[in-house]
Amino acid sequence: MSDASIKRHATTPVLVSRVIVGGTAPIVVQSMTNTDTADVQATARQIADLARAGSELVRITVDRDEAAAAVPHIRDAVRAQGIDVPIVGDFHYIGHKLLADHPGCAEALDKYRINPGNVGFKDKRDPQFSAIIETALKYAKPVRIGVNWGSLDQELLTHLMDENAALPEPRDARDVLHEAMVQSTLLSAARAEDLGLGKDRIILSAKVSAVQDLISVYRMLAERSSYALHLGLTEAGMGPKGIAASSAALGILLQQGIGDTIRVSLTPEPGGDRTLEVRVSQDILQSMGLRSFAPEVAACPGCGRTTSTVFQELAKDIEEHLRTSMPEWRARYPGVETLNVAVMGCIVNGPGESKYADIGISLPGTGEQPAAPVFIDGKKAMTLRGADIANEFKVIVADYIERRFGTAKSGGVPANAHGG
Ligand code: SF4
Repeated sequence: MSDASIKRHATTPVLVSRVIVGGTAPIVVQSMTNTDTADVQATARQIADLARAGSELVRITVDRDEAAAAVPHIRDAVRAQGIDVPIVGDFHYIGHKLLADHPGCAEALDKYRINPGNVGFKDKRDPQFSAIIETALKYAKPVRIGVNWGSLDQELLTHLMDENAALPEPRDARDVLHEAMVQSTLLSAARAEDLGLGKDRIILSAKVSAVQDLISVYRMLAERSSYALHLGLTEAGMGPKGIAASSAALGILLQQGIGDTIRVSLTPEPGGDRTLEVRVSQDILQSMGLRSFAPEVAACPGCGRTTSTVFQELAKDIEEHLRTSMPEWRARYPGVETLNVAVMGCIVNGPGESKYADIGISLPGTGEQPAAPVFIDGKKAMTLRGADIANEFKVIVADYIERRFGTAKSGGVPANAHGG
């Protein structure tokens, strides 16, 4: 599925192992581990979890020798599980040294991410930046040049602030900060190109933590360049706050056709599920009609007409069933991710909404007859009664999927074209 009303900003496609980022390729979902990279088993396990949840690129931090030494083993452990998700290495401060000292790491990674604000300081910055780009050239790896305003190039910022202060009518300091973000990103990209890294090997990002700033910075980046863009609101926060802020920022930019790959940076609850950030990214893209990952379940919010929790439980049960079945269904039933299912709480909107879905059920509200009409392709097909409505409905959905998608033929590559 794709929304024809959204015209994507034209960018140069970048091949990251088997995944295309940019150009006309579907917008790629990515995520990042939070394990100690030196812990091979824990990191490989989390990469596999994120990939199974639908992450199409997974980034790991490579912060010290032990982490760099672990990278080839992590790659092998992940591939041994039959998972070929590209693995990206995140480097700060000593990336040039780690890549030089650990050629196995340089070779095993599918992409490098560097931050021009901390690649080196003063006269060390340029040679260390060059060393990383030369390693990328040697191993034919793409690079994300990822500026973050928490580590923005202070020399550049000071220079632009001084220039601004000398103007007869100085601009707002925030505008200068945005300009510094964009300039730092584009100057670094130009330098990488000068060193021989093609546009088709460069992805840019310029992350900030405030929604309006992110929108301004990415609009400027998109206006001034055609590099593939990685979108993400950094330090978005925990739970609903992080999800809301990321959805607002990414939604606005994606609607303007800006963004080739996204990550939702959520702070997990202690012991929380890291794959939530993948799910949120998928939900942002799917709710905007940009990609389809899993059958859509429309569920009403419930109100005073539904005093029992039956329909909430059924909606949750059905949605989880559809989502957890997707890894198997995606292979067996091409196109199943475009399915629409409705689970509605009562007669007010239930039959109407259910008719618009491919398959829908309207549960009895308080005081209604204990019967749940099921609608298939807009027509009432049957009525379910009794205590086992949920399981009966799941069987009906499974039959429908088998009938409608069971004979479809699978499409081809690229890897991220599924449901794009
Ligand atoms: S469909 Fe019925 S239960 Fe659901 S929100 Fe509307 S009125 Fe309430």
